Amino acid sequence: RKIGIALVGLGQYSEGQLAPALEKTTNCRLAGIVTGTPEKAEKWKKKYDIPDKNVYDYKTFDTIADNPDIDVVYVVLPNALHAEYVIRAAKAGKHVICEKPMAMTPEECQQMIDACKKAGKQLSIGYRLHFEPHNQEMMRLGQNQTFGKINKIIAQDGQVQSEDNPWRLGRGIGSGGPIRDVGIYALQGAIYTKGQIPIAITAKFHPITDPKKFDKVEEGADFQLYFSDGTTADCSASFNKKMNKLRAEAANGWFELDPAYAYGGLSGETSKGKMNIDNVPQQARQMDAFAQCILTDTPTTVPGELGMRDVQLISAIFEAARTGKKIDTKNVIQYMDKS
Ligand code: NAD
Repeated sequence: RKIGIALVGLGQYSEGQLAPALEKTTNCRLAGIVTGTPEKAEKWKKKYDIPDKNVYDYKTFDTIADNPDIDVVYVVLPNALHAEYVIRAAKAGKHVICEKPMAMTPEECQQMIDACKKAGKQLSIGYRLHFEPHNQEMMRLGQNQTFGKINKIIAQDGQVQSEDNPWRLGRGIGSGGPIRDVGIYALQGAIYTKGQIPIAITAKFHPITDPKKFDKVEEGADFQLYFSDGTTADCSASFNKKMNKLRAEAANGWFELDPAYAYGGLSGETSKGKMNIDNVPQQARQMDAFAQCILTDTPTTVPGELGMRDVQLISAIFEAARTGKKIDTKNVIQYMDKS
């Protein structure tokens, strides 16, 4: 049986990545859509052969509870709407995938986890890189200490954000900014390469060089993660500079990806030579893996707890940058990435 997925929010990521990826899955199908724009509904219905009864808007969304074609609701809305729609999907009795970052606050994350638990449904976060072989190799090399103890990690993700992306620049519904949008990849990359959760964080916002564009969100930030065995990770996130790198320097060599977090074209090298790993359709793998979890009733490796850990750490990055203090992160949920 194929798992029926309904995409909520038909923006850039749904249209450009998830819908095409669904066609490459073996265990899933695009069964439904939720959109506030009737023209988009018409276009998608034709393109993906979606019946009228599986098309919802934000008002009719809750009646998805009565639709047996939909097993999973995939929330692909601006970040500030994730909590509301994940909770409504759980109340409708559906499994849920929620895009990153999971939510705006750790409290929201807890409510989302609780709602899915109460409904007896699985919650997973759209962490595609956990299903991507180059990043899985970084986890393996780092966590097995193949090159000895890691002393330093460098993790950088940045892009030049265009003006036509209002919520990412903090306008309208807001809640974007580079730390949440791309910094989350640098944060995670450092953690899953090291195989530990940091015990403290320091951070500094980048100076604003474009005050018109960055009137609502930070332009970028550098943040350092401190691990209990003395390893540090120098991380950077930007909406005004292209960066895409994950590098570990260890006692007996180094290993890195550049680009590290892209949808494709990832490339890896170690002090012993090229990685020679194939690029794969990441989102198809991610959704197929979740479908398998549902079909076999096994827990996802990218659950709400992992999303909540990252939201807690992002809150610590903001607190560190705002206060200039080193923030203790020993109390964050101790959920470690699994590949
Ligand atoms: P987008 O702006 O292109 O799409 C958002 C959609 O939400 C639009 O269709 C918009 O019409 C709809 N929407 C509904 N209510 C809205 C409201 N009140 N205000 C604004 N828009 C509203 O954004 P996107 O790039 O598709 O990102 C959506 C989510 O996916 C974000 O959480 C983002 O972080 C995540 N994302 C993840 C990845 C990844 O690699 N995993 C990549 C891109 C985006």
